[in-house]
Amino acid sequence: MKQEIRELLETARNTLRFHERMGLGGIPLTGGIERFLTAAAPPPSPPRPPGPVAAKQPASTTPGGALYTPAPAAAINLPLSEIYQDLEGCTGCPLHENRRRIVPGCGPAGARLFIIEDQPAAAEEETGRPFAGEAGELLDKMLKAIDLDRTAVYLTSIVKCRPAEDREPNRAEIRTCLNFLARQIAAVNPVIICTMGPLAARVLTGNNQSLFRFRGRLHDFHTIPLIPSFHPGFLLKNPEMKKGSWADLQLIRKKID
Ligand code: SF4
Repeated sequence: MKQEIRELLETARNTLRFHERMGLGGIPLTGGIERFLTAAAPPPSPPRPPGPVAAKQPASTTPGGALYTPAPAAAINLPLSEIYQDLEGCTGCPLHENRRRIVPGCGPAGARLFIIEDQPAAAEEETGRPFAGEAGELLDKMLKAIDLDRTAVYLTSIVKCRPAEDREPNRAEIRTCLNFLARQIAAVNPVIICTMGPLAARVLTGNNQSLFRFRGRLHDFHTIPLIPSFHPGFLLKNPEMKKGSWADLQLIRKKID
């Protein structure tokens, strides 16, 4: 019973901390609640030992969407640096024509959490890094709320070049670029994947419904658990959805633990 009460208190503390960090109002910060929030958090779980790189099996066609094309097995064990080399100057699809810079992705091999957004936007193209600008700052807060730092997470996108006028990439462009994503996932071999955005969710789950219909629960991506969630850029415009995002983050934390 004592253990259950401890867990209950820890969950309540984490929820309040998250709400406070995400700027959700309505918390009366009395002295008691402040002391409760600043109480020591449990020690972080030890890092996961590097596991074998699992070969990913070919997936089927996503309904009405792109064909997921994994890398040939021989290429699966390439280190991330070789994937980045292959990406340099890529002209594999028409998106290269208008791009200013490729946004390949970043993070450590062996990251336990692998986050995929839809496509680079202006801030990402400017910096060459996924989740840049204001949305990136919110992502950092969200990760902090579950005791993670972006340097421990692998971040990338479905396509690595920004489409002109931020249009959605077409099936052929997605299909061509997915080869890089498949190799990145295989090289990192994460414990859990989180898609942030409707396109990433559709492509990786093969579910063409609205994101609202299938987020909030775990899916399977070639035996890796996958949680579809909201992009921080969407949360900035729709702050009322932050509560749903918190539930997704808690699922991620549980899987990582
Ligand atoms: S979007 Fe991907 S496949 Fe297309 S040019 Fe850029 S890196 Fe190459």
